[in-house]
Amino acid sequence: MSIHCPSCGSHHLITRNVGRKMGGAAGAAAGTTSGSAGALSGAKTGAFVGAMAGPVGITVGSLTGAVIGGLVGCAAGGVTGARLGAQLDDKVFDNHQCRDCGHTFRPVPD
Ligand SMILES: [Zn+2]
Repeated sequence: MSIHCPSCGSHHLITRNVGRKMGGAAGAAAGTTSGSAGALSGAKTGAFVGAMAGPVGITVGSLTGAVIGGLVGCAAGGVTGARLGAQLDDKVFDNHQCRDCGHTFRPVPD
């Protein structure tokens, strides 16, 4: 399927991916927030597991759990956000822009 500008017929097009960029950023931010919550519960879990290895185990377990919780939250949020944004790009936003006339449009699947 070749996409062309509905205004001037040009094939010189760029994709804007506005939703993908916004979604990725928003998702990473939201993911970091929920990752902080994950870090807390990760720290608790880590402390609980570490407690079996004694006082040092509690510290090491808490830290490890917190770091993993935060990282997982941020990464998961970013991926989810980017995926949602890509859906928005495809279905909502005018994701294509003509480089010849500047017209923005959403390709209609045929
Ligand atoms: Zn055009």
